[in-house]
Amino acid sequence: MTSWCHTRQEFDQLTASLEPYRQQVETQLLKTNAMTGYCRACKKVTLLNTGPEPAAGEWKNLLEGMLCECGLNGRMRLCLQVVEEEILGHTPGHAAVLERVTPLFPHLQARIPGLIGCEFVGMALQGGSEHDVHGIKVRHENFMSLAFADNSLDLLLHFDVLEHVPDATVALQNALRVLKPGGKMIFSCPFYHNLPHNTVRAVMENGEIKHLLPPCYHGNPMSAQGSLVYIHPTWDIMDLLKQLGFAEVRIGLSYNPTEGTVSNGSPYEDGHTWPVIIVAQK
Ligand SMILES: [Zn+2]
Repeated sequence: MTSWCHTRQEFDQLTASLEPYRQQVETQLLKTNAMTGYCRACKKVTLLNTGPEPAAGEWKNLLEGMLCECGLNGRMRLCLQVVEEEILGHTPGHAAVLERVTPLFPHLQARIPGLIGCEFVGMALQGGSEHDVHGIKVRHENFMSLAFADNSLDLLLHFDVLEHVPDATVALQNALRVLKPGGKMIFSCPFYHNLPHNTVRAVMENGEIKHLLPPCYHGNPMSAQGSLVYIHPTWDIMDLLKQLGFAEVRIGLSYNPTEGTVSNGSPYEDGHTWPVIIVAQK
């Protein structure tokens, strides 16, 4: 189950109580490199491994590890879990997710009939146009200018996309615009809960990327280079969602070793990110 918080204070209380347990699990997992756990995508108990050994001096991120043979990691299973919880008892009529060629997509689609999968295919393309990507028909969408009609979606999903968008405010304004009143956005991003404000690593100025910090890239199935990280998000994102006009904003934590959804301390300055997901309702 996911524990929901509306404020930073609630979140800090919850995580303070979990922290000693989290550290125990982390120590154990980094010794054994695997554990038996339940994969809700495969619907079976199976071996989850911590993931490939990082290069010397690099960090092993357990939230992105705990891999099942189906290809889903702990963070993806968390996304699946929260989507299952949020749609329980009703089927969203018109739903879209900002991914299509990932191992998570078919599991989302199996739970949300008619789910539209989108990827950022190329800068010059028309939003809503369809393209062949590795033999898959993919709808192109740019989060900065979504082509969905205003007030048209019951559900919008995006998982670890927001930190790669040049302007999170513009993207979230777009999300609000395309959702129906009462519609929900469910999304994840690495959430640096200890930071006072978002760390801005890069900005887009007049169509040119300007790096304020050394460039950092995350894996992207659409690009061999990966995706540039523009921000390290934190509580500013929750405040922004409320300022933009979302009616309800909550952050969910599901630290769940049974399903291999765990996190570990990071050696980098911006610190630890718990397994969290955010729901914003219009
Ligand atoms: Zn699996």
